[in-house]
Formats: sequence, C-alpha cells, structure tokens
Amino acid sequence: MITGELPIFARKTKAMKFGTRAIHAGQEPDPTTGAIMTPIYQTSTYVQEAPGVNKGYAYARGKNPTRVALEKCIAALENARHGLCFSSGMGAADAVIKLLRPGDEVIASDDLYGGTYRMFTKVFQHFGIVFHFVDMHDHAAVQARMSSKTRMLWLETPTNPMMKVIDLAHYIALAKAHRMVCVVDNTFASPYLQNPLDMGADIVLHSATKYLGGHSDVIMGALCMNSQELHDQLAFIANSCGATPGPQDCFLVLRGLKTLHLRMQAHCHNGRAVATFLRSQPRVDKVYWPGFPDHPNHEVARQQMRDFGGMISFTLRGNAFEDASLLARSVKVFSLAESLGGVESLLSHPASMTHASIPKEERERTGIVDSLLRLSVGVEDEEDLIEDLRQALDQLKS
Ligand SMILES: *Cc1c(COP(=O)(O)O)cnc(C)c1O
Repeated sequence: MITGELPIFARKTKAMKFGTRAIHAGQEPDPTTGAIMTPIYQTSTYVQEAPGVNKGYAYARGKNPTRVALEKCIAALENARHGLCFSSGMGAADAVIKLLRPGDEVIASDDLYGGTYRMFTKVFQHFGIVFHFVDMHDHAAVQARMSSKTRMLWLETPTNPMMKVIDLAHYIALAKAHRMVCVVDNTFASPYLQNPLDMGADIVLHSATKYLGGHSDVIMGALCMNSQELHDQLAFIANSCGATPGPQDCFLVLRGLKTLHLRMQAHCHNGRAVATFLRSQPRVDKVYWPGFPDHPNHEVARQQMRDFGGMISFTLRGNAFEDASLLARSVKVFSLAESLGGVESLLSHPASMTHASIPKEERERTGIVDSLLRLSVGVEDEEDLIEDLRQALDQLKS
C-alpha cells in the first residue's frame, strides 16, 4: 500500500530519534519572521492570487498551517506517511466509520472506550452498519464472528479500565489475510510506547486530548496512516463533515508534544512505583498493570510496547462501594475526574463514572466491580503520590 515519495518533513527528521522528532518534526521557522514556534494562523480563509491559483490553502475547514505542522509532527511520531487532526478523538473515530457502507460489518473489542461503544451502537447502527463486540483474548470467537461482510477490525490496547493487552501482531495478520481495515486506538499507549503502523496496522487513532496534548487543556483527535488512498478518503471526509480543529487547539497540542517523551518516561516511572506500592497494601485486592510479570498478557505487552505506562486499575478487599468512594474522597494530590494522560494524577471510579450506563451484571462480568478504581498516574514526585494513596487507604476500616 505504500506509494509515493516521503514528504519533506519525514525526509528531514525520519532518521532522528523520538524526542528530536517530538520537538522538530513538521516545524520550520516562520518564513516571514523566523519565529521558532509555529504561529497560530487564526484565519478562516486565504487570499487567492487569481481564480484557481492559491498557495495550497483555500478555506480553513480543509487546511490550516498550524494544523498541518501538528499533523506532520504526530505522523512523524507514529512513523506514518500521513496524519490528520480532528476536533476530538470521537470526531476522528466518526470519520473512520464513514469509510463504510450500510451492510458492512465491524468487529471490535468488548471493552472498548465507552464513547466509541456509544457512537457505534447509538449512532452508526441506525445507518445499517453492523458491529460485533468480542473478547479479543478469544481468538476463535473473533474468527467465528467474521463473514464476507466484515470490513473492519477495531482494536484498543491496553484496554480501559481493565488494562488487558491485545495481541496486535495476531490481529493485524488476520486483518491482512481477510482484507479488513485494521484500526488501532493507540490513545492509552501513546506513540512513545507503541507504533501499530510499524506492525502493519492500517489506521492509528488518538484522542490527542490525553497523552499527546498532555496538559488537560484541550480536546482533539488524530488519525495516522501510510496508505495514500486511506489518507485521501479520510481527508475528504474531514473536510466534508467538518470535525476539524481550530489553530489555537493545534498550537496547544504542538506545544504539548515537545515534552511527550519526557512526560512518558515520568508516567512510566511513577506508574511502576505506584503499582508496586498498591500491590504491597493489605487493603488492596487486585492491581491491574501490564508491567507485572504475572499480568496475564505481560509477554505480549513486552513484545509490542516499549514500557508499561502510567495507567493502573485496582480493587479493594471486601469490594465495597463505600470504601472506593471514601478513598476517592480522601485523596489530596490525585483528583477525582474522568480523562487521563495529563501531567496531573487523576483517579476515577468506572462503575459510577465512565461505565455507569453498562448494566451492573454485564459490567461485573468484564471486571468492573464496585470497588474498582482507575488511576492516571501523573508526573508529580513519586513520594507525594505514594504518600497520598497511603493516607487515603488509611482512612478505610480494615
Ligand atoms: C478519550 C478517548 C477517546 C475519545 O477521545 P475524545 O478526545 O474525548 O473525543 C477515544 N478512545 C480512547 C481510548 C479514549 O481514552
């Protein structure tokens, strides 16, 4: 599928390492002033030289220079030929599903991000697209769901909130053999930890709201791909349907990306420290983090990820909602909030927050019990995070 010449930016920074690409890819000094930071091109339209003659920019829904710089930078981090930015992660997912036609079928994991599940079942099902949700650890179950109408395989790994790791190599090979478009939502891993396109995936999706932006101050989505054809189709959908981001938000993510590698190192370091601490605590029951050698998918994680990240879920002994609630109210450095991937540490209670709309029985079958708490471990000092969790756990009666 790889066609055409590498774009200029990729030629320049392609051989460079991740941190250098995070800081420089797609970004040239401003041609008029030499400004080192890409300007925020706050404009809706562009003056044309003559009818039909322009500098490649006509109207900002379709293209904006601040956005182009960001798209090139994200693409460089995923080793992709092309990047496209959207006004949110869901806007990016929406564009991907619009590649399909009524009657087409999609196989997705059964513990998909809640918003994606909602969009598939409550919006696109009405348009005649058929979705199957399968436990991706059960390779035979996925095979059993496949038919001549299956056009797309939608993967997410590590999963939310159970931190399961899906075998990307297995599913990418399956998608190739059956000519399915393989989409990987890489939000949880970030391009610092995992690059599914290098393994043969067709499309990588990011909620740039999370690790890419990294400062909990912007909503954005991104898609990366190598195929020119997929790029052209998705760019057409983005411009036609209009879920493209404004230049201010693009600037914020471009700025956030410059420390992605530094932040990810700190997230991974603190994640390991917090997971290890939680495991030593008598009031804690299970700790879900793929870095533990006895995590059921640890070997797969080692093969497809460079480190294990800062997302952790855990349950409390006795599994009482009251204990989880007291702990959530007792933390002082962690904040009780949805979302993830920012510099500040967050704690959430999936059963009452992100996964509240799933019936209790179904929720518990997938492991989302009443005492389950999810942490997005930030980049504060490790000692303060651990001390915070220690004092909050001490509030619980043993
Ligand atoms: C947040 C999230 C999304 C949706 O992204 P938004 O930017 O909130 O629209 C999609 N997938 C995953 C895994 C997410 O965490």
